[in-house]
Amino acid sequence: MAYVSFEYFPGRTQKAKNQLEETVSVLAEYQPEFQSVTYGAGGSDKQGTFDAVVSMQATTGVPTASHLTYTGSTQEEISAFADDLWNSGIRQIVALRGDPRDGSDHLPFSDTPEFVAALKECHPFEVAVACYPEVHPKAQSLEADLEVLKAKQDAGATLAITQFFFDNSVFYEYVQKAREAGITIPILPGILPIYNFTKVQEMAEACGTSIPETIREAFLCREVCGSTDMEIAAEILKAQVSDLACAGHEAIHIYTLNRVPLAQVASETFLKTHEGLSSQRQVA
Ligand code: FAD
Repeated sequence: MAYVSFEYFPGRTQKAKNQLEETVSVLAEYQPEFQSVTYGAGGSDKQGTFDAVVSMQATTGVPTASHLTYTGSTQEEISAFADDLWNSGIRQIVALRGDPRDGSDHLPFSDTPEFVAALKECHPFEVAVACYPEVHPKAQSLEADLEVLKAKQDAGATLAITQFFFDNSVFYEYVQKAREAGITIPILPGILPIYNFTKVQEMAEACGTSIPETIREAFLCREVCGSTDMEIAAEILKAQVSDLACAGHEAIHIYTLNRVPLAQVASETFLKTHEGLSSQRQVA
């Protein structure tokens, strides 16, 4: 059964909190399998994450995961946060290393697999982890990256969510290599809608995501073509998610950026493509 899932970040101001609430309520119509809320580097605004996770699960009934990073925190802080989540009915965590904040790179666990195991020991959470089709910028190689992912699976992770990518062929090849490396858990493609091409270029550069020439050209030619950025982004998204559906991928994880329009385009296109494919199969 095809599904979508959504990622949000906690709102800081009242206006941002209201926007988050509105977006979550609109996108809940797509019956996401789960939704998740990011965690600030080093635990900055962990209360914001906690409040958003608990409130979103209560208002929508959609299972809601809290992201949780360990860099810059102590084991005690992490287990107190995990206890609070568990005691509030949260059963899913996206477990991450996180990046150092303000130079604080204290690591309470030797690596992310150890962190996953510790969370599972704390409570029987369902634990998802991150993975990198275009290799984590600090990883030595794709093979080393896959070894870490395999160790996270062995420690109890049951789902991997990818860094965003725009070139599906990179993702397909990655999934194949992951399977060859013994990774059997679902690998959920992370889809980033392009609301602001300049910002996306900066983010892509920082995390090593390639941007296909066709996408660069589409934004370069916008004045000649007379299309708005939103129209271009919607076309790119439709092409990407329908291709994933046609290639047999049952689910996508959408980085919503707390906004409705392009998450809606991605969800509708992905779910309708699947519907079309299953009715074609029934006819045949
Ligand atoms: P790991 O699984 O530990 O590492 C992944 C790979 O990178 C491995 O090959 C590992 O060896 C290598 N690596 C990572 N760091 C180092 C290092 N310092 N030295 C050497 N090798 C290294 N960040 C947040 O702060 N909050 C969030 O909510 C958040 N959510 C995310 C959700 C997703 C789906 C993704 C893809 C990323 C998210 N991040 C978030 C970013 C994440 O914390 C960083 O990418 C971080 O650098 C790696 O985290 P990880 O758990 O994947 O690391």
